[in-house]
Amino acid sequence: MPRLVSHPDEAIVLKRRFGQGAVNIDKYIELEGYAAVQKAIAQGEEMPAWIINTMKASGLRGRGGAGFPTGMKWSFVPKISPKPKYVLVNGDESEPGTCKDHILFREDPHSVIEGTMIAGLAVGSKMGFIYLRGEYRYLLNIVEKAVADAYAKGFLGKNIFGSGLDFDIVTQTGAGAYEVGEESALMESLEGKRGIPRIRPPFPAVVGLYGGPTIINNAETIANAPHILLMGGEEYAKLGTERNGGTRLFSISGHVERPGVYELPMGYSLRKAIYEVAGGIKGGKQLKAVVPGGSSCPVLRADEIDVGLDFDQMAKAGTMLGSGGIVVLDETVSIVEFALRTIKFYQHESCGWCIPCREGTDWIKKTLTRVYEGGGQKKDIDNVQYLAENMMGRTFCPLGDAAAMPTLGFVKKFRKEFEDYIEGKRAGTPVMTTEHDLVGAGH
Ligand code: SF4
Repeated sequence: MPRLVSHPDEAIVLKRRFGQGAVNIDKYIELEGYAAVQKAIAQGEEMPAWIINTMKASGLRGRGGAGFPTGMKWSFVPKISPKPKYVLVNGDESEPGTCKDHILFREDPHSVIEGTMIAGLAVGSKMGFIYLRGEYRYLLNIVEKAVADAYAKGFLGKNIFGSGLDFDIVTQTGAGAYEVGEESALMESLEGKRGIPRIRPPFPAVVGLYGGPTIINNAETIANAPHILLMGGEEYAKLGTERNGGTRLFSISGHVERPGVYELPMGYSLRKAIYEVAGGIKGGKQLKAVVPGGSSCPVLRADEIDVGLDFDQMAKAGTMLGSGGIVVLDETVSIVEFALRTIKFYQHESCGWCIPCREGTDWIKKTLTRVYEGGGQKKDIDNVQYLAENMMGRTFCPLGDAAAMPTLGFVKKFRKEFEDYIEGKRAGTPVMTTEHDLVGAGH
């Protein structure tokens, strides 16, 4: 049974965060920092295979949302390539309800840098990029200083740790588009173009940044790599559940007594995360619903929270682990209003390339606005469901699904509340006041 990570000795990715000042490179080194990359280099010619096999054994799955096995992803990069290979760290943390990666950038940036180096060594890349979302510009100085400190120590640049290998890191910030969290849009943005997706295949592992093979991983995924190499893949895997190795960061927000970013073992009980880790529902109120993995995940009702926080158990429960953003809603929340806030966000962020996403989000927004403003009819609920169902799987990038899935969850699981609302029996306390409030939901 996964246990709560409550002490620095039990933590993995937050190990150096518990007030230890690891943003300072000397402190980071004192806390076994840059030992993992040296351990990898000590494997000699076996190094790339050793890293990838260790990552595969760890059972680490991408912490950005999709949950793809990291070791397998790295193994897809061709060994020989006429073009340079790249590592791209996705720090475009913009899923509403999610605020975990910023902890790493702010308090343990060297773990991201070291993880980037390890990923580079695994696939034969000499260049890594760390991309921060535009709204995280205030963290750029911290990350850039950490990179500069690593260069000053000779850890980055030519002949790293006497290996004969070179590795450089460049930082970049976005301009504040949710869409850029999608990996191909991220590459477009990094190349200086508008951040919209690319048609795939080809996939980034083969044709990625500037046309070269590219590993793209979320910042938390990358920050796990040094810990995994030091402790061993099998040991890391044991911390979680089958096919879901290790621990992960969860941002718990909304109506709880102690909102915050917590490291929990994969498979930890969602109920315990809410009632024990985050202190229960604020002010002793009743729980109404939980959005378990960021705003794109289908909602769970209060009677559905006896489920483990890993990719497979959440899928079985009809939702997703997503980016680990657990949003807790108490009995005062109007689901009609929450559904409208959610679709407003996605409609605003849609790049408009494909019709089901561009038109679907707009029509759902218009219909839910009419319902919210008191002019709705019962057939509007069916229309919203029909629109969302017809967006699913019919768009170039996952944003279409990300908008449709929560919408479907709301209207299916809370249909009675929509019907009562239309009849004038309104649950919850409306809090939206301005257009800005609507668009800014979750940000
Ligand atoms: Fe753009 Fe939406 Fe299509 Fe993604 S799904 S490419 S955001 S229009």
